[in-house]
Amino acid sequence: MKRKAGQDPSITAHWRPATQAIRGGSARTEYGETSEALFLTSGYSYDCAGDAAARFAGEQQGMTYSRLQNPTVEMLEKRIAMLEGAEACRTMASGMAAMTAVLLCQLQAGDHVVAGRAAFGSCRWLTDTLLPKFGIATSLVDARDPQAFQDAVRPETKVFFFETPANPTMDVVDLAAVCGIARERGITSVVDNAFATPALQRPMDFGADVTAYSATKMMDGQGRVLAGAVCGTEDFITNTLLPFTRNTGPTLSAFNAWVVLKGLETLDLRITRQSENALKVGQFLEGRVPTILHPGLASHPQHELAMRQMKAAGTIFAIILDGGREQAHGLLDALQLVDISNNIGDSRSLMTHPASTTHAGMAEDKRLEMGITEGMLRLNVGLEDPQDVIDDLDRALRAVGL
Ligand SMILES: *Cc1c(COP(=O)(O)O)cnc(C)c1O
Repeated sequence: MKRKAGQDPSITAHWRPATQAIRGGSARTEYGETSEALFLTSGYSYDCAGDAAARFAGEQQGMTYSRLQNPTVEMLEKRIAMLEGAEACRTMASGMAAMTAVLLCQLQAGDHVVAGRAAFGSCRWLTDTLLPKFGIATSLVDARDPQAFQDAVRPETKVFFFETPANPTMDVVDLAAVCGIARERGITSVVDNAFATPALQRPMDFGADVTAYSATKMMDGQGRVLAGAVCGTEDFITNTLLPFTRNTGPTLSAFNAWVVLKGLETLDLRITRQSENALKVGQFLEGRVPTILHPGLASHPQHELAMRQMKAAGTIFAIILDGGREQAHGLLDALQLVDISNNIGDSRSLMTHPASTTHAGMAEDKRLEMGITEGMLRLNVGLEDPQDVIDDLDRALRAVGL
């Protein structure tokens, strides 16, 4: 009997997250390999023409083409769905491919979206620039206030779209309240959960309909590949997302899927340790810099809410210096260990100046409106010894007079 340990629900149903992260979705070939096989194939062959026809008709199980299915990619999708507590998941070539697909697959001209104002720069480009081009209106709200979502709803509102914690302002959204408002009105709530991952926060436990990921960040976790994912009900994935992605092709490569499968095996370990490290670094910086935005610190205005929704505050936070871009760039240039890098979720500590990198494409007034000032720096704390990160920051702060 071929053993499919990661697939049989009678075996997997009681698995806890750490087990799911290592074994979920695994399917073995006849060789019994322990590590997941990497299927670098674009196509599949059939025993007879009738089989090909049956598969295309959906009457026979099996793969037809890697834009549509791939065994390695499918293992990753099953694993992410399991961790998320979702019925189904489909992966994408990048986080932005996932965000684009999850919005366009369910919207059409005349529809309306309510989106969180504080968001990743490219997500703001989707809501501010792409959707309006196709006749889809967007209202941007302060997502920290659930009432703001309520007030922005129109009869044609189809989607709430937001991230929590938000990049890079660390705004926290009350998932239960906002997703509850969406549910009541038949609006689909879509949560970009890249910062937390299911290891720290499962939005569906709070009523979210759909979650979307940049798996490039904590899921890979070692800065290697781009990847994205969308999770939802079987009905949403099969009948709404798949018609869009199967025909437009934002498909994840099997190789990248394999790398993320390996990343998930250590996700819980990494995000737990990195969150501890980020808290230590945050505690060091508190009082040393004028403003620190770290949901794990009691000084964060939404600390209690964050701790209600999240197992830990995550690896990312922001600080704001009074000396504008000059002081912020000066601090970056004085770093010896922490890299100047706009990536996040890496096992390396990385720091960036959002106003001149991740959010440079936005008009200044829009940046300021969402709280990104010239003195803001965003830090991703890695797996190094946190004391070495603290020593590096200490030296860099002195170099800019702090
Ligand atoms: C990085 C990021 C994205 C985009 O993901 P890519 O994998 O870089 O395409 C989307 N949302 C958030 C919150 C992110 O941090």
